[in-house]
Amino acid sequence: MENAARAELPVVVIGAGPVGLAAAAHLVERGLDVVVLESGDQAGDAVAQWGHVHLFSPWRYNVDGSARELLTRTGWADPEADELPTGAEFIANYLRRSPRLPRSRLDCGRTPACWPLLAMVRT
Ligand SMILES: Cc1cc2nc3c(=O)[nH]c(=O)nc-3n(C[C@H](O)[C@H](O)[C@H](O)COP(=O)(O)OP(=O)(O)OC[C@H]3O[C@@H](n4cnc5c(N)ncnc54)[C@H](O)[C@@H]3O)c2cc1C
Repeated sequence: MENAARAELPVVVIGAGPVGLAAAAHLVERGLDVVVLESGDQAGDAVAQWGHVHLFSPWRYNVDGSARELLTRTGWADPEADELPTGAEFIANYLRRSPRLPRSRLDCGRTPACWPLLAMVRT
């Protein structure tokens, strides 16, 4: 494939877990088109399996810098830095944070409703 044609293609990130979403945020920050593919029903599907358990690291270590930058533009505020969220809180307050956006570039497989922060920088 020619380089020019390849440049038109989005970067595909497989898995809308904390790492995949952080990777996507970094790619967006660099001006690249990204599609996140998620086999579960929503972002953070693996974390949801232990939603009742507290993380062992506080919020300050759980939020990716690029993701913070993008989410803050939607009015999102950093959770209390020293608090230990449960998996469910980690999902609700971060991984599935859903600002009202006109469109989403994320393709989450069965449920196109995962983290929409990528849309923001493209609209
Ligand atoms: C009880 C518990 C507590 C933890 N506490 C902490 C903590 O305090 N601090 C910390 O840093 N880490 C903690 N961890 C570890 C942390 O959860 C993981 O390191 C982190 O979730 C890994 O993120 P990930 O995005 O790589 O993978 P995952 O969270 O596993 O996400 C992978 C995603 O990819 C999807 N997927 C899988 N296969 C495919 C496929 N073929 N196609 C498309 N999608 C696919 C899955 O559905 C899932 O949504 C904890 C883990 C557990 C179990």
